[in-house]
Amino acid sequence: MLVNKDNINDLAWQKMNNLIPAIIQHAATGAILMQGYMNQASLAATLATGKATFYSRSKQALWVKGETSGNFLNVQQVLTDCDNDSLLIACLPMGPSCHLGTESCFPEQKLTQQNFLSELEQVIASRKNDKPEDSYTAHLFSRGTIKIAQKVGEEGVEVALAAVAETKEDLLGECADLFYHTLVLLADQDIDLNEVMAVLQQRHNK
Ligand code: AMP
Ligand code: ZN
Ligand code: ZN
Ligand code: ZN
Repeated sequence: MLVNKDNINDLAWQKMNNLIPAIIQHAATGAILMQGYMNQASLAATLATGKATFYSRSKQALWVKGETSGNFLNVQQVLTDCDNDSLLIACLPMGPSCHLGTESCFPEQKLTQQNFLSELEQVIASRKNDKPEDSYTAHLFSRGTIKIAQKVGEEGVEVALAAVAETKEDLLGECADLFYHTLVLLADQDIDLNEVMAVLQQRHNK
């Protein structure tokens, strides 16, 4: 169920001392970032401010994630499970979610390969934005759409040649080149990978 300010009271608060575990998931990659507890007041604050706000059991107080680190969690969606005793919150994090400095409190988790494309998409977006001096990606953006489009064309041809005349290792490398340069082209055109996925999904559903 989608949680909003009008149905907060329908959750199973009495089950566990008025605290419900909240699993924080990255809205774009699906990575599990962290888990905390929420009481009614912290969930109400989360919905009202759009910043994930927990109840700290050690401090016995509301705690806005990021209040000291600046690594706020911008909330995209709040869901509750089948028996309303658990929250799944999709967020876009403003920085590492773990206080130890890693993106996630579960740093060993392996994303599915498809999610890794989303992760790469985000790295590419940050290169487009920050333009670091030594970045090949930033360099590509600075050379413009025609150059990027040309790279995609070249890599496509290289994939085809590798498949018919080269080794499997060559083919893997060329496919990786093609995927990467395609993501750069999409970012250049301000297109989300999700929009491409939606087209694929639509075709699949036909
Ligand atoms: P922050 O909310 O990021 O400003 O961090 C403030 C404090 O909250 C940290 O010093 C930790 O005590 C705690 N904290 C932050 N992130 C986490 C987390 N992912 N899991 C548990 N505690 C955290
Ligand atoms: Zn449950
Ligand atoms: Zn942590
Ligand atoms: Zn290549």
